[in-house]
Amino acid sequence: MSDRKYAILGDIHSNLEALNVVLEDAEEYGVSDYVCVGDIVGYNADPVPCIERIRGISAATVQGNHDHYCSNTVCLDDFHPLAARVVDWTRSQLSAEHIEYLRNLAYTARVGGFTIVHSTLDMPEKWGYVFDTLEAEANFSYQPTALCFYGHTHLPVVFDKHRGVERRPYRKIMLELGRRYLINVGSVGQPRDGDPRAAYVIYTPRSKEVELRRLEYDIRTTQSKVREAGLPERLARRLELGR
Ligand code: ZN
Repeated sequence: MSDRKYAILGDIHSNLEALNVVLEDAEEYGVSDYVCVGDIVGYNADPVPCIERIRGISAATVQGNHDHYCSNTVCLDDFHPLAARVVDWTRSQLSAEHIEYLRNLAYTARVGGFTIVHSTLDMPEKWGYVFDTLEAEANFSYQPTALCFYGHTHLPVVFDKHRGVERRPYRKIMLELGRRYLINVGSVGQPRDGDPRAAYVIYTPRSKEVELRRLEYDIRTTQSKVREAGLPERLARRLELGR
């Protein structure tokens, strides 16, 4: 039986202050392995330091939609103008090597005995969302392992499949044999569940425990960096609202 302890984090979105607090907490917790469910960049003002930190901890990482848009010459005409501005700005910050790194991230990965994906397992490159039990049900039919972690919605929630599929918020989950789980790990850098604290998950296979961690970080600093970079004010504001 594995003695590993995984920190599973995602939707960092160039928020270095939140990422630093999360990684400190994980280290104190005695985490052995880091896993990232994508969207290292986008929205906030520290794309390069966030990429460097994720690479520095050798996190098993999958690609998010923002990682994709910022590392490919996707036409931005169909984008919300605010979103397009941030993608353009982020692209301008990245070196050829950072772009190469983001572009080469896989869409899904198997880590230990579980699966990770940013969006959905059926067509991860379409960037669909899993919000409700119907969407989760569809995802379960493509899920090769009993346990899968994902991101993209920025809402920490567990879908638990035994007779039917149940959806619920969580703080701690004890995984039970014979059930299947699809777990959203929340967002490090732009939480949207009304709680502005950074979110990530610790998974301990030996005790079958999944724990959601929430951590205060220096939101003011992140906000002033967003403003200094000339990024939309709305992006700075939403951090303190957790929306
Ligand atoms: Zn995201």
